Amino acid sequence: MAVSHFDPRRHGYFGADVGGTLAKVMFYEPDNDTVISKVREFVLSSTTYGSTGQRDTQLTVNLPKAKLHFILFETSRMHQAIKLIRSQNMLSGVKSISVTGGGAFKFSELVKDELGCLITKRDEMYCLIHGLNFLLRNVSNEVYYFVEPEDDTNEETAICDVREEMFPYLLVNLGTGVSILKVSGWDDFERVSGSGLGGGTYYGLCRLLTQAKDFKATLDEAVKGDGNACNMTVGDIYGGSYGSLGLDANMTASFFGKVTMEDSYRENIKEADICKALLYMVTNNVGQIAYLNARLQGLKNIYFAGNFLRTNKIAMKYLSKAIHFWSGGEMKALFLHHEGFFGACGAFLDSDQPNTCEPS
Ligand code: ADP
Repeated sequence: MAVSHFDPRRHGYFGADVGGTLAKVMFYEPDNDTVISKVREFVLSSTTYGSTGQRDTQLTVNLPKAKLHFILFETSRMHQAIKLIRSQNMLSGVKSISVTGGGAFKFSELVKDELGCLITKRDEMYCLIHGLNFLLRNVSNEVYYFVEPEDDTNEETAICDVREEMFPYLLVNLGTGVSILKVSGWDDFERVSGSGLGGGTYYGLCRLLTQAKDFKATLDEAVKGDGNACNMTVGDIYGGSYGSLGLDANMTASFFGKVTMEDSYRENIKEADICKALLYMVTNNVGQIAYLNARLQGLKNIYFAGNFLRTNKIAMKYLSKAIHFWSGGEMKALFLHHEGFFGACGAFLDSDQPNTCEPS
């Protein structure tokens, strides 16, 4: 879709993706529009809102006569968000909002009652792919990869311009859970696999086993931690490498397996070590499933998206390393600047269509 096609009378101003953990909103701000002046004033007055709301200014897309802004907050704060919008009368003049994700169903009555605004429900996978394809086509530096996937300490990245040859690709959406899709064209996709071991597993287990107060705090801890304080390595079992199988002494044989060994190991484990081991456990598992699906589908380009990767360089490096390792350097882990916002973007793009999704 060409960017010049947006007309607020048909598309409205928002697309939202209300997921199990996070609510993502894309705000379309046309120049000189008076209907959304209150929203504009509120959104641009800050980059943080309430206790969990954030706007990623580096993700703003400048279009010829408009801007796209990207905002998220925790879904658990939905009632407070609605209260705030209502108290400032921000949505007067906005008749409907195009929403995807489970929250499109869960909060639809509440939004209608409290804000007098209709929720138009959109199919989640369709929005995800539509939004991603749109940004792949229209943002030249959307895709990047790590130049040295094998070197944990090297965070250098390079841009990969895929606009001339976008398809086919494998998309691994790493949100609360994991969905894996084969994408062959603009509207041609298939969900080929998935896993319940995703970002929600990491964050949930961190909350259960440590005092980290929010997602960022778990990542700050993980940076300082040593995963092998919890994980049983090949070296713990063999006293060194298992050369004939190519297994290095440092390789993980069993996540958290070391906790079952001597008591002294257990006593010395720090919260940072737990966060690091959990992060490695989830990303390693996703990396392996991603590689196997790419092989099954005969695809070389694997895009990783979803908010689990938000400000999460360690996870991205682990995924890059895993894909490089399993594929013998043939496949590449590709990352996306708007990683968690494709569903919200797709809901906006789709908003000139009638309701495309009803609960069954
Ligand atoms: P969903 O649509 O299922 O909510 P997302 O793509 O939004 O999925 O990703 C949710 C995951 O993102 C969480 O499970 C967590 O791992 C991670 N995450 C990133 N930032 C935050 C945050 N500020 N609060 C909570 N989880 C976050």
